[in-house]
Amino acid sequence: MKYVSTRGQAPKLDFDDVLLTGLAEDGGLYLPEFWPQISKEKMQDWAKLSYADLAVEVMEPFVHECIDRKTLTELCHKAYGRFRHEAVTPIKQLGSQVWLQELFQGPTLAFKDCALQMLGLFFEHTLAKKDRAITIIGATSGDTGSAAIEACRDRQGIEIFILFPDGKVSEVQRRQMTTVDSANVHCLAVDGTFDDCQDLVKACFNDLDFRNKVGLSAVNSINWARIMAQIVYYFYSALRLGAPEREVQFAVPTGNFGNVFAGYAAKKMGLPIAKFLVGSNRNDILSRFFNANDMSIRSVEPSLSPSMDIQISSNFERYLYFVLDEDGQALAEAMTTFRKDGKLPLSNSAFTKATEFFEGFSLDDEGTLKEIKRVFEQNQELIDPHTAVSTAHADSLDKSTGIPTIVLATAHPAKFGEAVKKASGVTPELPPHLSHIFSIPENYKLLSNDLSMLQALVMSEGAATIS
Ligand SMILES: *Cc1c(COP(=O)(O)O)cnc(C)c1O
Repeated sequence: MKYVSTRGQAPKLDFDDVLLTGLAEDGGLYLPEFWPQISKEKMQDWAKLSYADLAVEVMEPFVHECIDRKTLTELCHKAYGRFRHEAVTPIKQLGSQVWLQELFQGPTLAFKDCALQMLGLFFEHTLAKKDRAITIIGATSGDTGSAAIEACRDRQGIEIFILFPDGKVSEVQRRQMTTVDSANVHCLAVDGTFDDCQDLVKACFNDLDFRNKVGLSAVNSINWARIMAQIVYYFYSALRLGAPEREVQFAVPTGNFGNVFAGYAAKKMGLPIAKFLVGSNRNDILSRFFNANDMSIRSVEPSLSPSMDIQISSNFERYLYFVLDEDGQALAEAMTTFRKDGKLPLSNSAFTKATEFFEGFSLDDEGTLKEIKRVFEQNQELIDPHTAVSTAHADSLDKSTGIPTIVLATAHPAKFGEAVKKASGVTPELPPHLSHIFSIPENYKLLSNDLSMLQALVMSEGAATIS
């Protein structure tokens, strides 16, 4: 399998290089050259597999030139052996046609673990094979940071720096990052906002000299390996609810569009998914797009579901590439216009194509609290504010279609305990493996919002082991 850039100007790469590169040289995102096709018979066999064994089957066609089956099997069992539930992503019934798939059973309680636990192992394996080292610099508004740290800590050949806005992540989120005691982990509290953190990271990528010197790499969902690992749980739940004979649909709390794009990839591989229900909070650019062809950027407002406080969803580019008939040049022009004018103009025919299998929905904070309460009262189930957007969407649908809706539960309610308590009156408990984070010392440095200071710090603390 080779990978091509959405913008068509960067060299084709194999999996190893796509993994280590992150963003393509032409500014595009990497995609597989074709989608492996899974027959009905194969899916019927897959329905019997454990999560880790299913992960091997789903990912093998994407990586087999670079990672042999035996190694892939070891890595999958290692990654998913760390999850708290035997089913890895267990499924619960919420209503007559509505199911909840818990993607938060990994070490840091957010769905990011499903892919990042694999990514850390892929990095370690590939770096050892190539005798290389990398530096990861990532920005987080909360969930990605701890999942990336947990995936990369103590791994050979990796130094990881995570930037978070000082005072603007929750105490649980901060302590999940800063209480990790590993020599290759560096937490930096930036005197600024999440956008400032992201701009610092982008500036590091744009400084080619620095980028090459430290071997810079990415852990956010521009990295194809993350999308690939997320395809697995779509197969897992759909096959348990009757696919390939029966169609299903997925309701997905959406920010950067990485999660829902992985579902689209599963559909491209043959999984019978009738619809994707894209959930947003008050930052509703995606639901405005899917419902009214209005993709126009407004300012980002803080909400109870901070991982969805986004206006420019980086992975939407991967979807748009297919909407525009895999025309890299047309895609590059559309993205340039979007950045310049703050608006993405799509022709009627492209819009019709884009909405064939997608539908948008948005819910404000007040609605989110009500929905958490409703689900608690009806099901005695606590859900987090991100998940609530999608359970509300699922609840609003016409149930007479007979198509089951699977809501992806993207975070454990205890990660957003305050909002959950406000809505339901109940404080969700942190799983026991995390209760110690409140009693052990934190370890992080304060950093001014200053690129040269960040680069100097990376060079002095980490890069020495790289060069
Ligand atoms: C990251 C995140 C999302 C958004 O996922 P995308 O892949 O960026 O669309 C939703 N919910 C939670 C809890 C998250 O951590």
